[in-house]
Amino acid sequence: MTTRRKFLARSAFSALGLAFGNVACGNTSTGRSRETDTIDTPIVPTVLSTWKNFAANEAAWQVVSQGGRALDAVEQGVRVVEADPEDMSVGYGGRPDRDGHVTLDACIMDEHGNCGSVCFLENIKHPISVARLVMEKTPHVILAGEGALQFALENGFQKENLLTEKAKEEWEAWKVTSEYKPVINIESHDTIGMLAIDQQGQLSGACTTSGMAYKMRGRVGDSPIIGAGMYVDNEIGGAVATGLGEAVLKTLGSFLIVELMRQGMSPQQACEETVHRITRKQKGFEDFQVGFLALNKKGETGAYGIQPGFSYVLYQNGENKALEAGSEL
Ligand code: ASP
Repeated sequence: MTTRRKFLARSAFSALGLAFGNVACGNTSTGRSRETDTIDTPIVPTVLSTWKNFAANEAAWQVVSQGGRALDAVEQGVRVVEADPEDMSVGYGGRPDRDGHVTLDACIMDEHGNCGSVCFLENIKHPISVARLVMEKTPHVILAGEGALQFALENGFQKENLLTEKAKEEWEAWKVTSEYKPVINIESHDTIGMLAIDQQGQLSGACTTSGMAYKMRGRVGDSPIIGAGMYVDNEIGGAVATGLGEAVLKTLGSFLIVELMRQGMSPQQACEETVHRITRKQKGFEDFQVGFLALNKKGETGAYGIQPGFSYVLYQNGENKALEAGSEL
């Protein structure tokens, strides 16, 4: 239910959005870059990731706190979750599609706007590292399915069975009813999207998932789609998404958040406006979760979801903190 406080806040942000829109037009016409002249001393390094992935943030922090590149930090960070069989939404141990195949999606983006992605990839534990190689070694952005697997094998990745006994048992139990309705904050739980700024002030992002549990074979969600599951613009900031991929795809949420920040919104305002965009336009939003995180060049963060229960972890000033995002409902 929308409370009066939330309604008033939303109206205020809508009004701000209009005002920012006007300012942005003014800037465009004068050719002045507003985003660069408002940046103060940034809080660097910073690592921000979806859900309670403390260990992933810790691994990323190890890289940036020692002067490493944000791109290496986000790759190393999300690899921790990809390798964890207890995390049933990412990599090894991820829940399979309805036919029992674990199929993985991931993408990565660096401070120069380079990006790489894999989707519908099977039998490779670290899709994020394959996505990075797509970015660095091919003229393409996305490789899918068989082609992505072939590319991974040619580059030294090993074929592995990613379906754990636990995931197999849950899938077999699910087959009894074959109910497709997403379970809020359960099926969406733990897909990891991560953003980082290194000590040089450079931003990168990564996102990796096994996608919606028991999806149709061949289904690809938002997570490997640049601009949907993750987007970074080193002049402005970055954003990542988790939750029902179809809803994120329909609004190209991460790209939208970065563009709203470019127009002057704070990361928090941009996340809220993007969630409002979904709840204004998409029917049935009461029954699914979408959560966004955003980080700007100053190290300011934003977090917002449709439903309560979207948690995230922020590593700043040497402290790795779990936080709870605000929500529409
Ligand atoms: N966004 C992911 C997908 O739809 C799922 C998730 O975040 O858990 O594939």
